[in-house]
Amino acid sequence: MLDIFKKAQENKYAVGAFNVSNLEQIKAIFLAAQNLKSPIIISASEGEAEFIGKKHLRAIIDSYKKETGVEVILHQDHGKSFETIKDSIDAGYDSVQFDGSKLSFEENIEKTKRIVEYAQSKGVKNVEAEFNHLEGQSALIEKIELKKENFTDPSQAKDFVERTGVDALAVVIGNLHGVFKDCQNPKLDIDRLKEIREAVGQDVNLVLHGGSGIAEDDIKEAVKNGIVKINVNTELRMAYTNSLKKTLEDNPDQITPYKIMPLVVEAVQKVVEEKIKLFGSDNKL
Ligand SMILES: [Zn+2]
Repeated sequence: MLDIFKKAQENKYAVGAFNVSNLEQIKAIFLAAQNLKSPIIISASEGEAEFIGKKHLRAIIDSYKKETGVEVILHQDHGKSFETIKDSIDAGYDSVQFDGSKLSFEENIEKTKRIVEYAQSKGVKNVEAEFNHLEGQSALIEKIELKKENFTDPSQAKDFVERTGVDALAVVIGNLHGVFKDCQNPKLDIDRLKEIREAVGQDVNLVLHGGSGIAEDDIKEAVKNGIVKINVNTELRMAYTNSLKKTLEDNPDQITPYKIMPLVVEAVQKVVEEKIKLFGSDNKL
């Protein structure tokens, strides 16, 4: 198991996985991590990584890591194919997620196994998988219906991790991607989480996607009961874009990027700091 997760499990906190596609976001996340002495996961989806470039992402993060001393890993978020994952591993990622949740259970197992084998052959110690599709997208959502029958089944989870050898599993326990427009927080099923934890054992990291828009008490309970990685994307996107819009509106004649962007960086940093404190990963470096 990667050190970053071993320490989180032992000390009952979760590490935030923050999505990025540009330098301002990376800067904001590192400033927050440095300020609060927190380990972090920098995460990029297929689209995000394509924009910034996987090798650039690796190089920028290495540079920040060296300068700040922050413990950080680079993670592929929702890789949908073997090729994408291979590409990320070859670019030097520390951790990858294969999202085969749209495939059948058996097909997902087959593909996940192949990815685990490739990852292990390249020394990548964390492969995350997902077999229940997590609803939503990293955006503002009008309305969505969450059905309990779509939540992760503990015995299926056990079967899945045993047959694939994955290191981490993304669970569906009432979470979803995105933030509701009407601000109704999804409610997490903590009993279900406990059952999954029990079924898969301590060697598997449990991951909560959709960390934006979940009630703080629910997050704390989830962390207490075995979640060690929480993905946050939508709230960072909102902070970035809303702050950028406001800055441009307030300063219509300003055309200098380095004078426009500090407020945006600050807005993203603030959200990351709130999440770090909520997840309990502050003062853990
Ligand atoms: Zn996700």
